[in-house]
Amino acid sequence: MNFKKKSVRDIELKGRKVVMRVDFNVPVKEGKVKDDTRIKAALPTIKYISDKGASLVLLSHLGRPDGAVKPEFSLRPTVDVLSKLIGKPVLFADDCIGAATVAKAQSLKPGEIMICENTRFHKEEDMKAKTEEDKAKADTFAKELAKLGDIYVNDAFGTAHRSHGSTAKICRHVPVSVAGFLMEKEIKYLGDAVANPQKPFVAIIGGAKVSDKLAVLKALIQKVDVLVIGGGMAYTFLKAQGHQIGKSLCEQELLGTAKEIMDEAAAKKVKLLLPCDNIAADKFDNAAQVKTVGQDIPEGWMALDIGPKAVAEFSEAISKAKTVVWNGPMGCFEMPNFAKGTLGVCKAVANSGALSIIGGGDSVAAVNQSGLAEKMTHISTGGGASLELLEGKELPGLKALNDL
Ligand code: AMP
Repeated sequence: MNFKKKSVRDIELKGRKVVMRVDFNVPVKEGKVKDDTRIKAALPTIKYISDKGASLVLLSHLGRPDGAVKPEFSLRPTVDVLSKLIGKPVLFADDCIGAATVAKAQSLKPGEIMICENTRFHKEEDMKAKTEEDKAKADTFAKELAKLGDIYVNDAFGTAHRSHGSTAKICRHVPVSVAGFLMEKEIKYLGDAVANPQKPFVAIIGGAKVSDKLAVLKALIQKVDVLVIGGGMAYTFLKAQGHQIGKSLCEQELLGTAKEIMDEAAAKKVKLLLPCDNIAADKFDNAAQVKTVGQDIPEGWMALDIGPKAVAEFSEAISKAKTVVWNGPMGCFEMPNFAKGTLGVCKAVANSGALSIIGGGDSVAAVNQSGLAEKMTHISTGGGASLELLEGKELPGLKALNDL
């Protein structure tokens, strides 16, 4: 996958008509935006394009309306929020396609901004087109979207792993397709830095299930010097090594795969670290009785966090890293009594001085909870997309952008 993609920096914007895919998939309650983080995140690109004298049409999805017009999924509430943040009026179109929307887009003056209604109000946006007829419908929809501008910008990394109308197919019908600043940063770190890492390269993979992270483990083992495995998934590995794991999470059917991964690590001379001690609980509850145990979890107990020695061992490896990628918590960090392992690793990453890339999802929540977010090099905005990029998959939304 080529990570050298053109961005808004590389093109002339003055007087042009830009259509940009953003991620305004924000929580809305009673017609009000409850959290404007994603709108704020898109501001630098929006401001840049508008300040350069281009008109700007914004496309996004919100929720899962399943191809029907459902008022609770309307993007209209985002208009006021963006308008306040950017300090000028923002227009709105009731649909993302059609003659009226195209006319409104064409009448925009340089610097003016318009948000279009939810792209997922049309089933053609995200339908799995299996028949030729459906493929043609999806393509026609993408062609309609393309009428909204002569330059396409994608700044919605979180949906870049989807081959939707507004995220990928539109690119077939516009002459220029480039990345926005958010997308550019995601490519730089999750793409380029991981493909060409500064060594030592340490990957920390955690979370509940081995099955969710299998592809990423297999991909990273080809590149890293140290692979740290924590969280619920570590116990399938410990069991595969012959340990007793009590009632801890275990994917029985993946014991063989876990062993294969450990064998491959050994063959590639990748240091694979599993928690040498653990916090075991008598039930899945913050108020459970707990005890610190080694790699054998007593009968009737479940390991819900890594122990202090494991934190120290993991931290030692992390302190030597030049590049760190982290995806997935080390324990049930949502419960304060089982958050120490995740927090400890978070501190180690923050203090390592390494280029640190936090790969979306729960690890982002954990980093934010720790108050150490500022000390990380890059915190990804896309859970599924970041995992797929780390797995080495081609993201349709990224692939469709013009190469540098
Ligand atoms: P994932 O979405 O796969 O990254 O998994 C995150 C979830 O894994 C979080 O909700 C954690 O509470 C959970 N988790 C982490 N460690 C454990 C564990 N030892 N036992 C059960 N669940 C865990």
